[in-house]
Order: sequence, then C-alpha cells, then structure tokens
Amino acid sequence: MAMKLKIAIQKSGRLYDDSVRLLKDCGIGLKDGVNKLKAECDNFPMEIYFLRDDDIPQYVEDAVADVGIVGENVFYEKNKKAEIVEQLGFGKCRLSVAIGRGEEYTGVDYLKGKKIATTYPVLVSQFLEKNKINAEIHEISGSVEIAPGIGLSDAIVDLVSSGSTLFMNGLKEVETILRSEAVLIRNEQLGAGQCALLEKFLFRIRAVKKARNNKYILLNAPNDRLEEIISMLPGMKSPTVLPLAEAGWSSVHSVLHENDFWDIIEKLKAAGAQGILVVPIEKMVI
Ligand code: ATP
Ligand code: MG
Repeated sequence: MAMKLKIAIQKSGRLYDDSVRLLKDCGIGLKDGVNKLKAECDNFPMEIYFLRDDDIPQYVEDAVADVGIVGENVFYEKNKKAEIVEQLGFGKCRLSVAIGRGEEYTGVDYLKGKKIATTYPVLVSQFLEKNKINAEIHEISGSVEIAPGIGLSDAIVDLVSSGSTLFMNGLKEVETILRSEAVLIRNEQLGAGQCALLEKFLFRIRAVKKARNNKYILLNAPNDRLEEIISMLPGMKSPTVLPLAEAGWSSVHSVLHENDFWDIIEKLKAAGAQGILVVPIEKMVI
C-alpha cells in the first residue's frame, strides 16, 4: 500500500467545517461520504479519521494518526506527547473564569476557597497553582455555564468566544486563563516518508493561510500621482505598473495585508486612485 499521511479531525462540532475547508483549500478533497470514521482523499496521499476532539491528542501520541487538528485548549488539557507544528487561525476562543454578574471581583484572590466548575481540570489546577490559590475544582462534562445558577459552584472556567452564553446565564468573564485556536499537531516520531508528506502538507497550509490574510488590489492611478500611490503599496516585491490605453493613466497591481487594508484604501483614494478592485487570493507562495 502506498504511504499516506493519516490525519485526525473533529467528527462534528465547531472545528469540523473549518478543518474540512482547510483541506479543500489545500487541494485535498474528501472522497468518501461523511458520517464515517474514515475517508480517503483526492489529490494527496492522505487518510482522514473523524473523531471526538478530546481523543485526537491520544491518537496522535499513539501514532494511530500522524497528525491532527485540535484546539490548543484540548491539546494542553490532555497533555499528551505530541507537538504543535502550525497555528491554523480558526476556532479562536479563550478559556476564562466567570462569576455571577452581581458579584464583585477583586482579583484572582477572589477564587480562594471557592468551588469552580469546569471541563478543564488540568488547566484550571495549573492556573490555581501558578497563582498560589487554594480552591476546589469540580469537574463536570458539559453545561458548565449553568453550574453557579443551580448552586453547584461559585465560579466556572469555560470556553468563551463572544461571551453571549455567559451573559445569558447571568455570568461575567473576569479572567482569561488561555487564548486558543486550532492547531496542527504531529506525532513526535514520524518516519522519514511521513515527515516528507507532512512537509508537503505544511507547505500548502502556509500558502493557504497567507492567501487568506492578503488581498489582491488593482487600481487606476494618474501618472503624476504614481510615485505617491506606489509608496503606499507594499506588494510582494514591488507593485506591478501597466500603462492604461488612456494617456496619462496607469494600472497598479499589488497585494495588501488584511489588517492594513482599510487604512491604505482610504489613503489611496485621497491620493487620486480610481476604480479600486480588491479580489481574494486563492494561494500565495512567496
Ligand atoms: P466533541 O464532540 O468532538 O467532543 P465538543 O463538544 O467537545 O466536541 P465543540 O464545542 O465542537 O467541542 O468545540 C470544539 C473546539 O472548538 C473547542 O475545543 C475549541 O477549541 C473551539 N471553540 C471555538 N470557539 C468556541 C466556543 N465559543 N465554545 C467552545 N469551543 C470553541
Ligand atoms: Mg470534546
């Protein structure tokens, strides 16, 4: 059988769609139907295992899967022998302490002697130890946000993204223990063949990530403002400038980082740029 890179991804849940989309953007399509434990792939020697996210670090440690996509929160909580190779830029959330909205939070000391409900006992006890706080950890397996309301705990530690779940349950976020996003993890002892496949896969992931963070921009510039406009555009090397059919005008092409985007567009307009087009980039290899 030809060598394949075995990857574990979440079977369903918050990481599923983005994990599959990342594979697709890397040119790797799933061949078999979903709702199975395993799928073969088009265009890349890869086999996908669909698992509960909690189990992924163990599968990677045991080399049942060579690599896996999992939240840092789960990776650090499970504490398995595996290595993070790439941040993936999705599944962003934070693991936070929350208490009743009516309570007055006085700092981490507030937690002394309190009962804290969580599904992350390892990360919570590390946090308490680091801050030299004695508190009781009450491990539960879900619906953590209702624990204070039903008298099970004084505080909770749970994942938060917008904070709306906390709000709906009369809680407020008071402390962040960990910022998390999805990461690619790998087994620590991959063979040479597996390593080579992982390198190929990583090369594609990085090209996709760069493309997602950048936009291609085209605009028309009056030649007498060209220098000023070019100085605003970074470009991969430097912007491309082509003459327009209309005398005195040029077309300028470049690549902009998402973060600087609106700022630069405003300046370009002020400098006389017209017909500004911004288009997504599919892959970007530098
Ligand atoms: P599974 O059935 O696979 O065990 P789960 O219920 O444990 O799934 P999900 O709720 O699907 O997990 O979340 C998976 C991951 O998505 C989390 O571990 C975390 O890394 C990430 N995530 C991003 N935003 C949030 C959020 N607001 N709440 C919970 N998880 C989030
Ligand atoms: Mg889970």
